[in-house]
Amino acid sequence: RVEVVDLHKSFGSNDVLKGIDLTIANGEVIAIIGPSGSGKSTLLRCLNRLEEVTSGHVYVDGEDITEKGVNLDSIRQRIGMVFQHFNLFPHMTVLQNVTLAPVELGKLSRTAANERGRELLSRVGLAEKAAARPAQLSGGQKQRVAIARALAMDPEIMLFDEATSALDPEMVGEVLQVIRDLAKSGMTMALVTHEMGFAREVADRVIFMAEGVVVEQGDPRELFANPKEHRTQDFLSKVL
Ligand code: ATP
Ligand code: MG
Repeated sequence: RVEVVDLHKSFGSNDVLKGIDLTIANGEVIAIIGPSGSGKSTLLRCLNRLEEVTSGHVYVDGEDITEKGVNLDSIRQRIGMVFQHFNLFPHMTVLQNVTLAPVELGKLSRTAANERGRELLSRVGLAEKAAARPAQLSGGQKQRVAIARALAMDPEIMLFDEATSALDPEMVGEVLQVIRDLAKSGMTMALVTHEMGFAREVADRVIFMAEGVVVEQGDPRELFANPKEHRTQDFLSKVL
């Protein structure tokens, strides 16, 4: 369970997040939508401390991860993140990419990590690519490796920041299928997405952000069909 309380984040004089309150229940999938620059990526990055918050709190199962003394490695083990650009290590094989973190952080032995890595690669449909290098893969395959790599740490929560935005259209479906399967498996997830159809289908709740605040949130069917706030209506009329 994630609880965000009165979260503020500024870059210099630019107040990007202006008091976000948000909870994500265990097993819940939320989709965060909103205009460019509204602070969606910044919010996700605050959830695993890729950004320091300016004020406010983020609790993960009751533990305040915004506190100075917390172990960043352990936060990032618990909260996996997948980005628009996959950032795979080009000189390593697919299996090495997936097993690097659990071995380096002493979470799994080399043998156990390889076994788990192969399991995850087959889960994302890439069992036969274990020995390939990232350069030999399509964009969709690379993104599926990036998802397997995040899952290798056994995270409690997965964050996706526009995981399909950099993909050629024909690759989008295969990555969405992996995310859909994860949602069905009960993973707690926050997805920032421009794919409104996907948000409607997979999310338990949709959060509409604009200018650093949560303007409106609710059941996807309800929010897409009957947005209550003017800013939500305006945004949806442009993207739907
Ligand atoms: P998009 O849909 O385009 O990805 P977003 O909703 O994810 O937009 P953010 O990336 O969170 O928006 O950016 C929100 C604001 O914060 C922008 O004005 C951006 O310039 C600013 N910002 C983000 N990261 C930094 C940074 N590291 N340093 C300074 N300003 C930043
Ligand atoms: Mg963004």
